[in-house]
Formats: sequence, C-alpha cells, structure tokens
Amino acid sequence: MLKFDCHVAVGVSGGKDSVVLLTILSKITLHKTKLTALIVDEGIEGYRPHGVEIAIKTAKNLNLPYKLVSYKDKFGLSLDQMLPAPFGKTSCAICGTFRRKAMNNAVIDLSADFLATGHNMDDEAESVLLNVLRGDSIRFSRQTRKPEFVSEKFIPRIKPLVLVSQPEIVYYAIANNLEYHDDVCPYASQARRNSVREFLQNQEKRHPGTIKNIIIFQDNLLETNNINEKLETNLYECKVCSEPTDSKIKICAGCKFLDRLNN
Ligand code: SF4
Repeated sequence: MLKFDCHVAVGVSGGKDSVVLLTILSKITLHKTKLTALIVDEGIEGYRPHGVEIAIKTAKNLNLPYKLVSYKDKFGLSLDQMLPAPFGKTSCAICGTFRRKAMNNAVIDLSADFLATGHNMDDEAESVLLNVLRGDSIRFSRQTRKPEFVSEKFIPRIKPLVLVSQPEIVYYAIANNLEYHDDVCPYASQARRNSVREFLQNQEKRHPGTIKNIIIFQDNLLETNNINEKLETNLYECKVCSEPTDSKIKICAGCKFLDRLNN
C-alpha cells in the first residue's frame, strides 16, 4: 500500500488499532517516506480527552510530528453540542461524516499522499455486513481495500491492518507494552454496528475463519464481476465547502448536517 518518497498521514485516536498502526509504520517506513499522526478531537466530554492525550504521547514517543484538529474549531460545534441529532440520524453517522471531512481537510493541508487508518479485519467485515443489511450496494462496491486516486481533493486511504484480526492487534499492543485508550464512547451504544459485531464474534467462535471469509467473499465478488468500475459514481464539488461529494444536489453530507444543526 505504501511507496517510496511519500507522505502518509496516519489517523490516531489513541485506541489500540491506531496506536499499533502508528508504531508498526514507524518501524517499517520506506526510504524517504514521512509519517504524520493526525488526531481528531470530536469534542466528547469525559471520553475524547484521554484518547487525544495518548495519541499525542504515542507520536512524541515515536518522534513523529502530529496535527490535532477539533470539530469545535473546524465546524464551530463539538460533537456533544451537535447531539442529539434532531433528524433521525445516529450519533455515529453524524460523528463519522464530520470525521471524514475533518481528516480529508487536514490531509490536504498537510499535503500528504495517503491517509492511513487503523481499521482491522473485524471492523472491515462488520462494514461489509452492514452494507449488505442496509441494502447499500453502492457503498458495498466501493469498499475496496486498494488505495484509489479519485480526485485531488479526496486523498487515497489505506488500511494496512485490514487483514489483521482484533485479537492479534491486542496481542501486539500487550507484547510491546503499548499504552492505549480503551474507554467506551458514551454514544457507541446507539450504533447498529454493535449488534453486527456481536453476531460476527459469535460466528467466529463457532466457525473460526468466518470474519476473514466475509472479506474474501467481497473481494472475489467485486473482482470477478468488475463491479467497482461499473458502479463508480460521479464526484461533484460541494457548493458550500468545495469538497468532493457524490450528492446530486452538490451539497456534501457535512454541509447539509451543519445547515440543519445551525437552524
Ligand atoms: Fe463517534 Fe460513534 Fe465513534 Fe463515538 S462511537 S467516537 S460517536 S463514531
């Protein structure tokens, strides 16, 4: 996923996945490849400050530069102030929309070539299944694990840990004595992902290999049918923030949310 002479921004929340990712990347970095830890403060009282503290500490311990961005500075509201969302969206849907926006902007400011995130095999299989359960074939077909260049304003993402299971990541963190933040977000209980995670973990216990099989199934299906290319959607420029969006009315999800929140 990486190449020589490039700048990789690494999303670090302070949780085990991102701490392990930053640590491993700092050890295997290729010639002239530069890393910057990118830390997003959503503004969740009693939860996020600890993660931010560990993320900064991890970057400093590895002698890496870091960039901290907050929802409050960037969008004028913290996540706590945005919630509860008045229009039937879950907290995580709102949070995820603004995180993608904040990260994409920060990566462009850093002039980085890639954004690396700590998604592991379990997260990825959950997303595959969630897209199936929602009937969202467009997102399903876009869920590629290959970095793709889509637009100058949308930096390619890489998920170096995507074939590493969650237990392996925990094991690596413990074996290497890494400090990570393991608190539970106060808004996490609303996520549909939780029940999917429970189901998959049960299946994995009874039928080891299930989680990896889901990813292999998606890869094979997309590759055999060349679905990625067929379902590629057009990207437009958001009329409000100029960022890429697939919205036909040319207003990105973040700007739509902000407009409704501010009203
Ligand atoms: Fe945001 Fe949901 Fe993650 Fe909490 S659990 S940080 S609300 S995406």
